Amino acid sequence: MNAEIIAIGSELLTPFRQDTNSLYLTEKLNQLGVEVIFKTIVGDDRGRLTGAASLAVSRAEIVIFMGGLGPTEDDLTREALADALGLKLHRDPAIITSLEQRFAARGWKMAPNNLKQADVITGATVLPNANGSAPGQWMSGKYEGRERIIMLLPGPPHELKALFEEQCLPRLRVKLPPQFIATRELKIAGLGESQCDARVAPIYKLATDVQTTILAGAGEIQLHMKTRAASLEVAQSRVDQLVGKIEEELGDCVFSDNGDSMEQIVGYYLQMRNATLAVAESCTGGLLAERITSVSGSSRYFVGGAVVYSNQLKTAFADVPADLIEKHGAVSSEVAAALADGIRRRTGATLGLGITGVAGPTGGTAEKPVGLVFHALASDGGTEVAERRFPGDRKRIRRFASQQAMDMVRRKLM
Ligand code: AMP
Ligand code: MG
Repeated sequence: MNAEIIAIGSELLTPFRQDTNSLYLTEKLNQLGVEVIFKTIVGDDRGRLTGAASLAVSRAEIVIFMGGLGPTEDDLTREALADALGLKLHRDPAIITSLEQRFAARGWKMAPNNLKQADVITGATVLPNANGSAPGQWMSGKYEGRERIIMLLPGPPHELKALFEEQCLPRLRVKLPPQFIATRELKIAGLGESQCDARVAPIYKLATDVQTTILAGAGEIQLHMKTRAASLEVAQSRVDQLVGKIEEELGDCVFSDNGDSMEQIVGYYLQMRNATLAVAESCTGGLLAERITSVSGSSRYFVGGAVVYSNQLKTAFADVPADLIEKHGAVSSEVAAALADGIRRRTGATLGLGITGVAGPTGGTAEKPVGLVFHALASDGGTEVAERRFPGDRKRIRRFASQQAMDMVRRKLM
């Protein structure tokens, strides 16, 4: 089955309030095997809301409305949906009683406009709301000539979640054929997005029953694979098979197949090899150390390092000879190598990493443009240097550089 989610509220069309409910609902629906095919956001306008409701009911099998169930003038969801379906609203005495009790319990007198919240669309089942005054509504049957499930849910996220979980999910489970979803995620480094897609598209296009999405970040590509089947085993083996084929094609460019981050993977390898790491960073300004130490337990393999932004500190903290900087420039393969060697010797770590580059947006030259970064990895077997040119703004270039540095460690220890 497929679904459309409609978020109602003029504030959701401003930069100040975001529709977060639909993210929650999408996750829950996906788990049931329901695909969300449209998300709509409508302001508090009866005509537009009626239009959005008619369209949704015409094109999606499950339609969820949320928000606009309050007592005020701008809460119009009930009225608009009734308009769209050509149905009437009736005032439910049981809801009036529970609203009155709710107010009495707080020592308040109910205002007359709250009565609106007792309006129920003909044929709808009332979904009591333990956390707020607006009850939800559940409708299932033929609407506009088509078999539909329609829900009206309150807007406040904690009310929506509780109500959906307790009252809508059990009803949906009964209506939906049992479906199981299996997902896998591959993370890839050392390939560009188009390069990667050119190699894997011929493979995943053949697996028509698996939905594959490619997401590119700075220095990392993620392939998300998802499938549904009537049994978990069938769904799982289907994605596993595709993962196997893609891993075979991409080889060691795949650094993670279970959701682990690059910093976690580097940590596993360092521990597995009983190795330690130290870093001397210039253009990444500590980002590399920050990422490595974001992993709990990293003290077992990360000894530390230095942020050596100025030439003086490159010499003082990583023993880079001043004349080497003078001769080749701070951004050079020679200085990167000296940073890696120096920090390794200074700290006694098994491996030393050095990074120097032009993060921009200023400071680039024809010879050394913005995005040029030298990475070096020193070990007892010698020092390797990689020269890369990264695209993007300062933030992206620094992210790329930290990723590339860690990927060098991964490939070294693999
Ligand atoms: P309403 O039900 O329209 O009175 O909305 C009640 C509160 O819930 C308001 O503060 C809204 O901003 C918030 N709200 C409504 N819809 C959403 C949504 N889709 N995501 C997050 N918050 C929402
Ligand atoms: Mg509202």
